[in-house]
Amino acid sequence: MNKSLLRKSRAYYKINPAYSNCPSCKSSGTLMKSHSRNFGEKILNNVTILRYYRCKQCGWRGLLRTVKFTSASLGVVVLYLLLVSGAALITYQILKRLL
Ligand SMILES: [Zn+2]
Repeated sequence: MNKSLLRKSRAYYKINPAYSNCPSCKSSGTLMKSHSRNFGEKILNNVTILRYYRCKQCGWRGLLRTVKFTSASLGVVVLYLLLVSGAALITYQILKRLL
């Protein structure tokens, strides 16, 4: 496997949805991070690439992505997925033989 290729290509970059337009009223600069209302939202806010945002203008509230995947990195992502599924398959085969 070509390690330098993996290091060079960034699979994603962080974006700040606060600077993007509101999905509901299309006004810019009105989005701000929303506090999580319950435990489920708290986990979502911490673990995933999604975050709750609220629009000051129209009161819209919803999930926005904080990470953008580059199209050039799609190959890298696919490669990672293949590696993970390959490892899972091998683990499964070993476990099946042992049990
Ligand atoms: Zn809005």
